[in-house]
Amino acid sequence: MLTREQFEDLDRTDPLASFRAEFELPEDVIYLDGNSLGPLPKSSKERARRVVEQEWGRDLIKSWNKAGWFEMGQRIGNKIAGLIGADQGEVIVCDNTSLNLFKVLSLALDMKADRRKILMEGSNFPTDNYVAQGLCKHLGYGHEVIFAEREQLIDAITEDVAVVSLVHVHYKTGQILDVKAIMEKARSVGALVVWDLAHSAGAVPVDLGDWKADFAVGCGYKYLNGGPGAPAFVYVAKRHQGRFRQPLDGWWSHKAPFDFTRDYEPAEDIWQMMTGTQPILSMSLLEEGVDLMARADMGMLREKSKRLGDMFIQLVEEKLDGCGFEVVSPRDAEVRGSQVSLTHDYGYPIMQALIERNIIGDFRAPDILRFGFAPLYVRYSDIWDTVEMLQDIMQKNLWNLPEYQAKAAVT
Ligand SMILES: *Cc1c(COP(=O)(O)O)cnc(C)c1O
Repeated sequence: MLTREQFEDLDRTDPLASFRAEFELPEDVIYLDGNSLGPLPKSSKERARRVVEQEWGRDLIKSWNKAGWFEMGQRIGNKIAGLIGADQGEVIVCDNTSLNLFKVLSLALDMKADRRKILMEGSNFPTDNYVAQGLCKHLGYGHEVIFAEREQLIDAITEDVAVVSLVHVHYKTGQILDVKAIMEKARSVGALVVWDLAHSAGAVPVDLGDWKADFAVGCGYKYLNGGPGAPAFVYVAKRHQGRFRQPLDGWWSHKAPFDFTRDYEPAEDIWQMMTGTQPILSMSLLEEGVDLMARADMGMLREKSKRLGDMFIQLVEEKLDGCGFEVVSPRDAEVRGSQVSLTHDYGYPIMQALIERNIIGDFRAPDILRFGFAPLYVRYSDIWDTVEMLQDIMQKNLWNLPEYQAKAAVT
């Protein structure tokens, strides 16, 4: 049987322990939802003040040059490149994940003009499906999205597939896809691959160069701690740059935006993925999150995240046996992202009861309780306390109150 002392010992010897103090986390809250919205880095508060008061307030429009506002998307993109195994000049920060997916899918379909199919895993995060379906409808040349779930994915990658567009770490179960097998099969049939790294960047090792990836997109506000609505990033392999273009021809993706020419001429580098003016306040805060993440060792992060997940699963099995929970994340930590998901028939009210007791995870319909273990700030003892609280909630039926049944707009 595990004991709380064991968890406290692990916290004492945790080489990443000092990172927690760099976040503004309320003393009485256990935060297990960094996979949905990362917490506030303390340095972001200072940065926000500086950007608003000095850069905007005092320096006004001069800041586009003086404070490096214009290049910020590329500058942060290059920093993110270091986290995901990309080269300098292959990543740029702009817009949101959905928009960036639209851009890379359009571009990829143009590159495979003789094919009409986008292959996706339908059970994954819906925005990806919606964007792809919307794009196909918009193109109006008989393009279609076809779906396959993970066991069938490899077989579904056939010679009529133009693009395989997949979420690397499943948003519900945390399962990691077999990148190597998928890339190999896609290459063998001449299909391109788009990776959505929403639950990967800053959470699990990603090496786009080693994968020989074509395209990728990802979020700024999850494990990168960029703040609510932080802009996203987009990756285009060097070999694909300057040949085809994404269709949102805004002035920021023009090769010489300040020439203000009448007709569009595309930038030939990663700037071609830009659209128009970017949210500088949000982007500034993202830079703080990325800088903080870049100081942590990915190997250590991964080890801790696997261990947090393993110990959580072990505790759930010890303490919540017979309570109706089922672990739906992989037990093998090698193929599990930085989260563990449980199912329960009363998952929604149980999560509400937990949140009311200041342990914050989230719920995903129809029955999934998600617990994100961001290793930069989650402590081993948090895992212990979470399962203890769940045990209390179940034993005393504390979830069974009418106020926990009503669904809020955001779950
Ligand atoms: C969170 C998430 C997104 C978010 O897309 P936005 O456009 O930033 O809202 C997209 N894809 C996946 C897989 C996600 O998990």
